[in-house]
Amino acid sequence: MKKKIRIKWKNIILVGLVLGLLVTGGFYLYSNFFLLSDTETKSIKIEKKKKEYQFKLFMVGDALIHESVYYDARLSNGGYDFKPMIELIKPISSSYDLAYYNQETILGGKAIPYSNYPRFNSPQEVGDAMIDAGFDLVSLATNHTMDKGETGVIESTKYWNSKEQIITAGSWSSQEERDKVRIYEKNGIKYAFFSYTTWTNGLNPPTGKEYLNNVYSNEKAKADIEKVRDKVDVVIVAMHWGTEYSLGVSEDQTKIANYLSELGVDLIIGAHPHVVEPVEYINNGKTFVIYSLGNFISGQIGVEKLTGLMMEVTIKKVVDVDGDVTVSIVNPKADLTYTRYHLNSSNRDFKVFPYAQLNETILPNYRSYYEKYKGIVSSRYSELEWGIGA
Ligand SMILES: [Zn+2]
Repeated sequence: MKKKIRIKWKNIILVGLVLGLLVTGGFYLYSNFFLLSDTETKSIKIEKKKKEYQFKLFMVGDALIHESVYYDARLSNGGYDFKPMIELIKPISSSYDLAYYNQETILGGKAIPYSNYPRFNSPQEVGDAMIDAGFDLVSLATNHTMDKGETGVIESTKYWNSKEQIITAGSWSSQEERDKVRIYEKNGIKYAFFSYTTWTNGLNPPTGKEYLNNVYSNEKAKADIEKVRDKVDVVIVAMHWGTEYSLGVSEDQTKIANYLSELGVDLIIGAHPHVVEPVEYINNGKTFVIYSLGNFISGQIGVEKLTGLMMEVTIKKVVDVDGDVTVSIVNPKADLTYTRYHLNSSNRDFKVFPYAQLNETILPNYRSYYEKYKGIVSSRYSELEWGIGA
């Protein structure tokens, strides 16, 4: 009997323990289940929301530094200051997320004697002034990149590499530097930036040192772009191409633009002709092409070569509820600049003006020039909006 009772008590305790565990565990699971599902619902809600990202990019053309330009920038202490020449552009260019320009002449600096056309070497203070005005995306592959040979490129890349926040492409001092895959990010948008030149003025980089100047070939572009296309949202390519002083688009430009578009390039920024050329969307709107921005600053002669294009585009990325990503180049806007200087004066007084700040004294008939170049730039894209920083 005693034994039986003891067993019973044991059973009761056991049953009690099991029941207790069941209730507590059940409660725990129950509450956890609801907590979990609540969190899940919340995260699904977040993912299901459409997300939008964007950044605004500003672009100008060639900094083509003739001796007349650097003589005018020379200071009494032997240094150079180009900042006053672009002070009217700075309020515009510095207001963007990114600002691009093409450094046409090599910034070899004082290690090499400064020189004029046909083989330029320019003061590095040109770069300082452009950086001060907010420019941070620079193309370096041009027909003048090899003007001072390997030394010029090494001095130039040393300068640019010392400016950590500045992104350059198109000219390097080693194969290792050239081969590095570079992916950048702005406002949640990943992008790649390349620079190629189709012209070399016969000064080709030596065999084995092709990295000094990124001379264009379809194969090279394909290899470069395929390496990054799936890793970035946007691919931007600066092309040094076209026909000098031609206001139209060459057959070569058309071919290359279409080829790059097929490779998935979103934006092509053209330079080299020293005059403005049309802009347009190609390949069913997949790629926006600016065929030539013209000169930003130069000592060239004639309104056509002293008129440059300022462009603005918005790079937009939309992630829809299913996670599909759409990237587009939207709201292109254009405006013109004019480089004023006094040709037959000891005081050249170089200054880049937005056309909106010109008057009849600075450039007689400026309104008709504005209409003329506006017509050329818009000729393939009549919806192009005009007016930047006005
Ligand atoms: Zn050029």
